[in-house]
Amino acid sequence: MAEAIVVGSGPNGLAAAVVLARAGLKVTVLEAAGEIGGGARSGEATLPGLLYDHCAAVHPIAAGSPFLGTLDLERYGLRWRHAPLPCAHPLPSGDAAVLHRSVEATAAALGVDGPRWRALFGPSADHYPALAGDLLRPVPHLPRRPLRLAQFGALAALPASTVAGLFRTGRARALFGGVAAHAIRPLDHVFTSAIALGLLSPVQHDGWPVAEGGSGRIAAALAAALTDFGGAVETGVHIRDAAELPPSAITMYDLAPAGVAAVLGDRLPSPVARAYQRFRNGPAVYKVDLAVAEGIPWRNPEVAEAGTVHVGGSFAQTAASLRTVHNGRMPAKPFVLVGQQYLADPTRSHGNIHPVSAYAHVPHAYPGDATDAIIARIEEFAPGFRDRILAISADSPADLANDNPNFIGGDILTGAKTPSQLLLGPRLVGNPYRTGIPGSYLCSAATPPGPGAHGMCGANAAAFALRDLRRRRRSP
Ligand SMILES: Cc1cc2nc3c(=O)[nH]c(=O)nc-3n(C[C@H](O)[C@H](O)[C@H](O)COP(=O)(O)OP(=O)(O)OC[C@H]3O[C@@H](n4cnc5c(N)ncnc54)[C@H](O)[C@@H]3O)c2cc1C
Repeated sequence: MAEAIVVGSGPNGLAAAVVLARAGLKVTVLEAAGEIGGGARSGEATLPGLLYDHCAAVHPIAAGSPFLGTLDLERYGLRWRHAPLPCAHPLPSGDAAVLHRSVEATAAALGVDGPRWRALFGPSADHYPALAGDLLRPVPHLPRRPLRLAQFGALAALPASTVAGLFRTGRARALFGGVAAHAIRPLDHVFTSAIALGLLSPVQHDGWPVAEGGSGRIAAALAAALTDFGGAVETGVHIRDAAELPPSAITMYDLAPAGVAAVLGDRLPSPVARAYQRFRNGPAVYKVDLAVAEGIPWRNPEVAEAGTVHVGGSFAQTAASLRTVHNGRMPAKPFVLVGQQYLADPTRSHGNIHPVSAYAHVPHAYPGDATDAIIARIEEFAPGFRDRILAISADSPADLANDNPNFIGGDILTGAKTPSQLLLGPRLVGNPYRTGIPGSYLCSAATPPGPGAHGMCGANAAAFALRDLRRRRRSP
């Protein structure tokens, strides 16, 4: 009998598999796609020799992940690389706000708002490694740093618009708004500061790195660790019904709740089935990979040094575009996130032709083509950009969903990050990983602590699975 099966080989599926294999179980991972990694895959997309991340690109949380940190993944070829600047936010005036690798440096560049920036974000950035242990575990646990967690929680619970309102300058407000936009929620909703704080803390502790050779190296390193612990991965195996699975003591599902509901069908207890049906998907992204001669000609030179660029304009413009998307409409000027990973990892370029990825926030399952809107938005801050584009490859929300069933309607966060779904995932219970079927667990980014290639959802779920298994084996 196989002792543990993991369905899906995203970073969380692989993390769960490693935890179980490290505990001595015989683990097999079954992956629908032809290659492992889910949202952590890389490859060519436009011209030969240019390397792109298919999905996850920049990794402040993964680089500081308490679980990945236990594995010494450098042994398996994973190396973090940093651009000269982690993140920049160009402004309509031609100025730019910059997020630096330390809160002091960010604050120093923010002038009159520097002291307030330092006061708000300094404590969680300074103590990030200790805080991460509490933040990235499931919510109902005894915190090791209760005071720091409470401080973080009080700020995280606020609407991003409230926190932005504490700053006097448009630069600081725009910079904060651009990071908060990662939640893809209207910025006047409660808890929209949570994802901003969840990113600002690690970024201002130790930067916003990429994986050398592409994010696929994260999955490859986890798979290599799994092999060392005796586990195996099979690709091209799309599980549509739990009856297709071999018997096992533990089954982990690295799937969206709707995917687990489809596979488990009537076997799910009805309250759990109802919770999975109620689980809300969020807005989508529309992604373009571009081959750009000599890179993007940003008007502001600091932006040309940043691995991540938030093209959202002022705080008010960022907030307006998120509100429009939330209302199901395509903004004329979408919020665009630009990845210049080649600045950190020059091996991704071919001579002076550079791979650039950019995505816009668009409504859930948006059926239109956002390519022009993305290029036009970047061009506003980088005149002449369009003329440097040599090739384009676009992924619509439908393309993203076809490529990975977890990204329903192009929702890259595996579920809308409403307060309850952010904190507890699909079920308002103490253990959101349990499916209600003994031995079966949900371990994808739909569960706490949420999206990213940090593997913490998988590691948390697998730790519970092992605890339950020991209990089951002890009871007669
Ligand atoms: C365009 C884009 C940009 C992103 N940018 C970032 C970023 O910069 N930084 C970051 O940290 N995160 C980013 N993310 C999010 C990140 O990729 C995800 O949060 C992360 O991959 C979630 O990991 P996971 O293991 O939960 O699931 P996934 O990575 O979604 O993996 C799930 C796996 O399960 C497989 N699967 C699904 N159904 C079945 C089935 N029935 N049978 C077998 N296999 C199945 C899928 O093929 C997939 O391989 C981005 C995502 C996208 C799409």
